[in-house]
Amino acid sequence: MYLSNLFIPITKDLPSEAKIKSHQLMLRAGMIKQSAAGIYSWLPLGFKIMKKIEQIVREEQNSIGAQEMLMPTIQSSEIWKESGRYEDYGQEMLRIKDRQGREMLYGPTNEELITDIFRTSMKSYKSLPQILYHIQWKFRDEIRPRFGVMRCREFYMKDAYSFDLNDEDAKNSYNKMFFSYIKTFNRLGLKAIPMAAETGPIGGDLSHEFVILAKTGESQVYADKRILEIDLDEYDASNKSLDKMRKDFSSIYAVTDEKFKDHEFNKLVKKEDQLKTKGIEVGHIFYFSDKYSKPLNCLIDDKQGKKTPVRMGSYGIGISRLVGATIEANYNNEIMKWPKSIAPFDVVIIVNISKSNKENLEKAEKIYKELKKQNIDVLLDDVEENMSNKFKKHDLIGIPYQIIIGSKTEQDKFEFKEQNSKIQILSLENIKSQLKK
Ligand code: ATP
Ligand code: MG
Repeated sequence: MYLSNLFIPITKDLPSEAKIKSHQLMLRAGMIKQSAAGIYSWLPLGFKIMKKIEQIVREEQNSIGAQEMLMPTIQSSEIWKESGRYEDYGQEMLRIKDRQGREMLYGPTNEELITDIFRTSMKSYKSLPQILYHIQWKFRDEIRPRFGVMRCREFYMKDAYSFDLNDEDAKNSYNKMFFSYIKTFNRLGLKAIPMAAETGPIGGDLSHEFVILAKTGESQVYADKRILEIDLDEYDASNKSLDKMRKDFSSIYAVTDEKFKDHEFNKLVKKEDQLKTKGIEVGHIFYFSDKYSKPLNCLIDDKQGKKTPVRMGSYGIGISRLVGATIEANYNNEIMKWPKSIAPFDVVIIVNISKSNKENLEKAEKIYKELKKQNIDVLLDDVEENMSNKFKKHDLIGIPYQIIIGSKTEQDKFEFKEQNSKIQILSLENIKSQLKK
């Protein structure tokens, strides 16, 4: 892609409500545009990053056998009346009437709809277990939408639902999802900490919020510092059941405010290990057993032929929120820093161009073609503009590697720079092999 062709409305004008860095940087880099309070259009640069996050989430869901599907955004109120949540959900639910006067709604979540699909399709324990998921827009009429894409009214979410015969099997689905989340966030270059969350009347310990530590987060976090050290890549999983593993990963104290109790924290965590900070919730997994299957009469025949409500859990990841959360976790002053796995481009070629000198651009185009051939996603900055502005712009956008074609360029050696490192002078072959790594 040539920068001169890219739709990227970079701006310096920021609205006063853009208070946190991720919101400011996303607006400045032309990644999003607000269309109404808490409702955004995703412009090409922002959209590309979000799609990369979505793809990693999808791959990790598929890898545990979850099956992708797609449910609509508009739902009928009937099933919500059956579950009892139509009234309970309150003003966060956007209610709509169609021309027949039927009550509809824009889905804030999909437990009811997926249960309805399941109850009419699956009748026997033989078709269990199942995990279904979709990646779809949600609407919640948040009272105070803020922080850009972090707390929107319309947002993009992956939500998965598991179906099992009994609590024991359901725990296994939960554990699989737990580690799929750890892997997903690792691949996104994020340290997301599983924190014990409310289970309500269901009880047990099968509810975790995945939280990234960040000063601008909305969740208050209380944890034992040692939880930061647990790392799946270094964990010895041999001869360990999934349940034992999950316990190892969640036995160290970590909760958000809703579950926090002062005396418990002081009793369980030594003073010097106590961590009190803020975090951003990027995912939530929750086992709720027959909470929806019972009122919605979603029954299956067990091994004895007796009808029993299917046991369900739900598992969400805030895909659009993750774009902002990743910036919050990594930015440095006016610089966005994208992990390589989700960077909008692999590398940018920054060319010093003037009317009198077309030589640099020719060199750059040659490199561009070479890299394209290697399947490297490259952006070529072919805009006529002074170099210091160009550098500022590319610092902002945060592509992990730069090739600079300017005064220091020799015949077949080029300036090559990894974000936050020193410039190296390398041949194209060397650059290619660095990028391929
Ligand atoms: P929060 O506590 O942040 O309001 P929640 O508990 O209501 O979130 P869930 O229903 O568990 O959220 O939704 C799953 C995920 O969807 C959350 O972990 C979060 O990443 C994302 N999410 C929820 N609400 C929003 C929102 N208003 N804007 C953007 N993302 C959201
Ligand atoms: Mg939650």
